[in-house]
Amino acid sequence: MLAPLSTSPTGPGAILTLVRSGQAVTRAGLMEITGLSRSTIGQRLDQLLAAGYLIAGPVESSTGGRPAGGLVINPQFGLLLLVAAGASGFTAAIADFCGNVIEQRSVTMDIARGPAAVLGRMQTIFRDLLNQIGHKPAGVKGIGIGLPGPVAFPEGQLVRPPIMTGWDGYRVPDFFAGQFDAPVLVDNDANLMALGEQQQSFPQVKDLLYLKLGTGIGVGLIMDGQLQRGAQGAAGNIGHWFMPPAGDTSGSSAAAGPRLCRCGNQGCLEAYSSGWALCEECGVTRVRDLTRRAADGDMAMLARLRAAGQHQGEALALAVNLTNPAVVVVGGSLAQDQLLAALRETVYRRSGSLATRSLQIVAGPLGNDAGLHGAAHLVSDALLAPHVVDRHLSAG
Ligand SMILES: [Zn+2]
Repeated sequence: MLAPLSTSPTGPGAILTLVRSGQAVTRAGLMEITGLSRSTIGQRLDQLLAAGYLIAGPVESSTGGRPAGGLVINPQFGLLLLVAAGASGFTAAIADFCGNVIEQRSVTMDIARGPAAVLGRMQTIFRDLLNQIGHKPAGVKGIGIGLPGPVAFPEGQLVRPPIMTGWDGYRVPDFFAGQFDAPVLVDNDANLMALGEQQQSFPQVKDLLYLKLGTGIGVGLIMDGQLQRGAQGAAGNIGHWFMPPAGDTSGSSAAAGPRLCRCGNQGCLEAYSSGWALCEECGVTRVRDLTRRAADGDMAMLARLRAAGQHQGEALALAVNLTNPAVVVVGGSLAQDQLLAALRETVYRRSGSLATRSLQIVAGPLGNDAGLHGAAHLVSDALLAPHVVDRHLSAG
């Protein structure tokens, strides 16, 4: 669909990338950085402006960020449909081409109801949101969906997702085929949260690890500025690392062994310290019931969350030693203050001194919006890739 092709380093797609990254946003700046003539740059920009990719940016004072007369990506180039889904519900949104959300809606729905029911609901909400703002499906340029399971990214296909009953092997883009004339990109939820936080909150940071602590536990990893998915899309699946806590006696007998995880294995990190495991242990149904009890001063709950943070910290310390991020961003419904404090303390104690010398561990500034921002970046990165832009312009 969006396979890499040879790209002209001086074509319109390459020029667009320079503007988008902010490396050069004026004709003079583009001439200087590319060495191309005024007439060539003029011709490339005319193409990009005529096709609606770029517009003249707002005129700013001399003390403002971008120079007066600079170019920016056109937010009206097209609409994006975005979804951030978790185990027990999803948020669907419609955004402009720069990822600014215009309308959004959150629904409670168990992801294990399967692809037909869940994607059908998304489709209905997409139509509603389009109607609400008076746009037709033809205005949609791309669709980005984050799901709580491993995704083979090129196909948008789920691969043995532990909690997504009925989704194994399902190709999500096939569901939307014929409904929208736009690419459908699907990725793991923690990957999109990592991308959202890196692009929005830490644009200067090239090595970032996002730890999602919600119903499940997962990691999204950005190294040298690139999201790392691994060969099959399973990178960062630390929730199923074998990590029984020291002195674990939670098996029904010594012979029963470590605690059973919902993936079918025993002794996983998630089986002890995820939202679902803590809910089972404490007899509540939602992760926010746990954090609310802690906020109400339930000392036993606070101690349990601190213990969970320590246990998660043991796993995070291993991930930090392996990947050496500059920033760890922690998000998800379980990422509560006392838990974070315990997690942080454990990582600094357990990681090598070089890996933690200047490591920051922070709560995600975007909160619940990280996944939607990440989905928007995923789609606009694909649509604005130089070879895609060049092909679009030569076809048009
Ligand atoms: Zn497991």
